[in-house]
Amino acid sequence: MPASSLESIVSLSKRRGFVFPSSAVYGGLGSTWDYGPLGVELKNNVKRAWWRSVVHERDDMEGLDAAILMNRLVWKYSGHEATFSDPMTDCRACKTRPRADHLFVAQKGRDPKGLTEINAAISAKELKCPKCGSTDLTEARPFNLMFKTTVGAVDTGDDSGLAYLRPETAQGIFVNFGNVLDTMRRKLPFGVAQIGKAFRNEITPGNFTFRTREFEQMEIEYFVKPGDDEAAHQAWIDARTQWYVDLGMRRENLRQREQTKDELAHYAKRCVDLEYRFPMGWSELEGIANRTDFDLAAHSRGPNNPDSVEELRYFDLEQKKHIIPYVIEPSAGADRATLAFLCDAYDEALVKEPPAEETAKLRDLVQSFAKSVAKRDNLAVDVKARLTEAAEAIAAELPGSLPRLLGLSDDADANRIEVFKKVRGVSEKLGDDYTRTVLRLHPRLAPLSVAVFPLKKNEPRLVEMARGIRKELQAEGIRTVYDDTGAIGKLYRRQDEVGTPFCITVDFQSLDDGTVTVRDRDSMSQDRAPRAELQGIFRKKLR
Ligand code: ATP
Repeated sequence: MPASSLESIVSLSKRRGFVFPSSAVYGGLGSTWDYGPLGVELKNNVKRAWWRSVVHERDDMEGLDAAILMNRLVWKYSGHEATFSDPMTDCRACKTRPRADHLFVAQKGRDPKGLTEINAAISAKELKCPKCGSTDLTEARPFNLMFKTTVGAVDTGDDSGLAYLRPETAQGIFVNFGNVLDTMRRKLPFGVAQIGKAFRNEITPGNFTFRTREFEQMEIEYFVKPGDDEAAHQAWIDARTQWYVDLGMRRENLRQREQTKDELAHYAKRCVDLEYRFPMGWSELEGIANRTDFDLAAHSRGPNNPDSVEELRYFDLEQKKHIIPYVIEPSAGADRATLAFLCDAYDEALVKEPPAEETAKLRDLVQSFAKSVAKRDNLAVDVKARLTEAAEAIAAELPGSLPRLLGLSDDADANRIEVFKKVRGVSEKLGDDYTRTVLRLHPRLAPLSVAVFPLKKNEPRLVEMARGIRKELQAEGIRTVYDDTGAIGKLYRRQDEVGTPFCITVDFQSLDDGTVTVRDRDSMSQDRAPRAELQGIFRKKLR
């Protein structure tokens, strides 16, 4: 069963060192996360796989790593200073600040036609606060999403040192178009890829690492002659979809969504979102847009831009004149892709049924938890609804829903309810005895590729051989760890839970004939292989 709730992923991530809440020793900083020892390996593997596919394996692409801080004029001429904003409204009753366009879509079932229509609905009291239900909302105003900072030692109090933390990496590519074109002697079509941090002061961050204020993007700007843009766009839509599938994402959890005319940015000719079926519903993983010649034209010197010192254009030998290339932009999030791969790989199943009386006891506890939640007055409406819905669904489906219940263990709101302590105690005991969690990550993405265990940790010859194998494989660039902190069965379970595709056990036969047991995470098969062949075997399996 793949992850049916984000709680299971959050809980596993925290328990096994993928993702931690940021600055937790000071109570954290809302919706900010740190990648732990296994998370950083996983995310690095996602980025490496992307770079390999879009830069190294193609002959029409170059890489770039532009600065986060850029001249403020970049954001003036890109349009971000004027228009990169979300419409917000304030609820006068409960003092929350929801996004007005989201209220409109949720409550009227369609996209609004701009701020004017949203504000007409607010004054007609047609929109309600999602937290308290009041219709006493202020007029919606645009709220710019860019983080401001000051460049230079002194804050002069005026705007002379103003700079922004980039809200996307794309602009760094556009303003370097001429540099890459000239230094790499490129002809159209060609593209530039970049991975880097971006910052947006999101009003409603959430859903774990899905929407945060600091995140990493993996962006491509692919430059083509006008007229060749539509075919290139379609080719990128296909190639990017296939990338996720090749790395093991289930096709049925991935879809292409054509943006409607109303959604399209004014300069975009067409945009297709790749969406993943996250536990909270279909949501964007990557947007692939045909941005026409908007960006290069905007940053080129001309009547509309007296500040630029360059003309970002291309001399077309066939037509013997300068043209402004069109650009196709596949723009993905490294954090969202990592989260989607985690959700897709997550597999938690009952390995055997617990006795009926134990299930019945747990069901009673979950039902009394649901009743306690319903009675609490000090829980926010949305928290109450979320916990009640989860508890009722879990109670109805036990013991199959045991994995989902285990996922709730770290939920701070659930833990505020007294009876939940008992629920946790009983479910964790049943979980240990009756469930198996496996992350079926593609071997190229798994944080660890191989784990090596000695059958006995107090037998120096086994330990020496196991440590030696670890060193040999690591020297080949195969991420390998050594572990002797438990019985073999327990060590297999631990590695399954973090997605390690292969485990090696060194036993007494290994000392006699030099063979070891290689155990496969997915088939659970165990085959003997000579130590001398291990490097070759894994190189092939991990290619
Ligand atoms: P959304 O509609 O979800 O806010 P967007 O359309 O604003 O996304 P783009 O500006 O197209 O996003 O950014 C490209 C990609 O960057 C997105 O597909 C997503 O993977 C990632 N991304 C954007 N905003 C965030 C964020 N706040 N947190 C994490 N990833 C993000």
